[in-house]
Amino acid sequence: STATMEVELTAPNGRKWVQPLGLFINNEFVKGGSGQTIASINPTTEEEICSVAAASADDVDVAVEAARKAFKDASWKSLSGTERGALMTKLADLVEQHAETLATIETLDNGKPYSVSISEDVPEVSKVLRYYAGYADKNFGQVIDVGPEKFAYTIKEPVGVCGQIIPWNYPLDMAAWKLGPALCCGNTVVLKLAEQTPLSMLYVAKLVKEAGFPPGVVNIINGYGREAGAALVQHPKVDKVAFTGSTATGKEIMKMASATMKNITLETGGKSPLIVFEDADLENAVTWSHGGIMSNQGQICTATSRILVQEKVYDEFVEKFKAKVKEISVVGDPFEETTFQGPQVTKAQYERVLGFIESGKSEGATIAMGGEPAPPKGKGFYIAPTVFTNVKPSMRIFREEIFGPCVALVSFKTEEEALQLANDTTYGLGAAVFTKDLVRAHRVAREIEAGMVWINSSNDSDFRIPFGGVKQSGIGRELGEAGLQPYCNVKAIHVNMAA
Ligand code: NAD
Repeated sequence: STATMEVELTAPNGRKWVQPLGLFINNEFVKGGSGQTIASINPTTEEEICSVAAASADDVDVAVEAARKAFKDASWKSLSGTERGALMTKLADLVEQHAETLATIETLDNGKPYSVSISEDVPEVSKVLRYYAGYADKNFGQVIDVGPEKFAYTIKEPVGVCGQIIPWNYPLDMAAWKLGPALCCGNTVVLKLAEQTPLSMLYVAKLVKEAGFPPGVVNIINGYGREAGAALVQHPKVDKVAFTGSTATGKEIMKMASATMKNITLETGGKSPLIVFEDADLENAVTWSHGGIMSNQGQICTATSRILVQEKVYDEFVEKFKAKVKEISVVGDPFEETTFQGPQVTKAQYERVLGFIESGKSEGATIAMGGEPAPPKGKGFYIAPTVFTNVKPSMRIFREEIFGPCVALVSFKTEEEALQLANDTTYGLGAAVFTKDLVRAHRVAREIEAGMVWINSSNDSDFRIPFGGVKQSGIGRELGEAGLQPYCNVKAIHVNMAA
C-alpha cells in the first residue's frame, strides 16, 4: 500500500519532508515482490531513520523491462536532443528548489557535514545535469569524405538500457554523474543506490517524475549489491553497466558482465599520491593536502592518502600539517555549523578504518596524531583524524585504500625517488604535485601513472573535466565531453553512390 511507501521525517535541523521508501519503477514507488527492506541507519546516532524497500532479482527484472519499454517508446525515443535537454534542465531546477531538503537528507543518511551537503553535493547535481543537458543537442556524428563513389556518415545512437551502480560516499553526486550523460544521449536507466544511503536519491526520484520524464526512463532502486546489483549486471536486457565503488567489486562486475559482453565503465579505488617538492609554497601544499585526505571523512576515491615530502622540508611539513588538522578538522555532529568532519558512514566502515589504524601500529608506523575513535564518545561512528609517519612502502597503510581520515607521510630525496614511490601502487586514480618549478611540474605530471593530476592543488574535481583512473582504478571516464563516449554507439553508414 502507499501508506508504507513513504514516511514523514524530521531532521535535527527542524526540516520536515515526506521520504519515499519504495522502488521507483515506471514513475511509481512500489513495494517490490519480496517485500524485503533494509534499515537506513543514521551514523551520528546509530539509530534507524527508516526502512527502505530492497529489490530482489525479480524486482530488478521488472525495472529493466520498464526501462526496455521506455527506450523503444515514442514518448522518449522520438524526443529531440533539445527536448531531452529541457527535461534535464527542469530536473536541475527542481533539485535547486529542494536543495535544503536534499542536503538535510544527505547529511542525515551519510553523516557528511550539512555545510558541505548544501554548498557542494547538492549544487553539483544541478551543475552536472545542466552541463549534459547542454550537450543533448550537440552530440552528433560526422560526414566522412571518402571520394565521389561513396557517401559515408556516422550517427551516435544511445546504447540502450544502462544499469548504474553507485556507492555511499557521494550518493547524490555519483547518481548525477551517471544520469547526466546517460539521459543526454537518449538512454534509459536502472540506477541501483548504495544500500547504506538510499534516501536522497529516492527523494530525487519524485522530482524526476515532476520534471516530466516519461515513465520507465529513469528507474531508481535500493537493494543489496550481491542481490540487486548482481542481477542488474547479469541481466541480458541491460546493454551497459556503469559502476563506482571498490576495486574488488569492480572485478566481479567485469566477470559478470562478460557473459553478455556489456559495455562497462568502472570507477574504483585509489591510493593517490601527493608530492611536495622542497621549493613548493608550503602553506598552500598543507592547505590542499589537508583537504585532499580529510574532506568527506576521508571517504573519497581520489583522496590523496599518501603524502610524499622532500627530505629538506619534511619535518616542517609534518608540523604544519598537524597544526592544520588541529585547526580545521573539527569532528562532531554534522548538523553543527562548526563541524568539518562527521562520522564514518557505517559501523562496518568505522571498524574497517580502525582495523587499518591497528595494522599501521602493528607494522611499526608512528601515530603522529589521532589513531583512535574520536569524541563525542558513545554514539556515532567518529574517528580521530590520523597522521602516520615512519611509514614504509610495504605497509598496508601505504598500499591499501583505507577510505577514512588517515594519511601516510613519507619523505623522499630525489624526483626520481618521488616518482618511484608515487607509482608503486596497483592504483592510478589521482595524483598531486606541489612545486614552483614549472618544467618539473609538467614533467612529473606526465610521468605519474594516474587518470588525473593536480598541480598545486588536490582533488579539484570539475564537471567539465574528465574523471577516471588507470591501472586498477578503473576503465573509462565520467564528466566532461569524454563522459559521453560510453553512453553512445557510433554507427557507420556507407552509401554506394557508384552504379
Ligand atoms: P562496494 O564496491 O562493495 O559497493 C559499491 C556499490 O556496489 C554498492 O551499490 C553495492 O551495493 C554494489 N555492489 C556490491 N557488490 C556487488 C556485486 N557483487 N554486484 C553488483 N553490485 C555490487 O563497496 P563497499 O563495500 O560499500 O565499500 C568497501 C570499500 O570500497 C571502501 O572501504 C572503499 O575502500 C571502497 N569504496 C570506494 C568507492 C569509490 O568511490 N571508489 C566508493 C565506496 C567504497
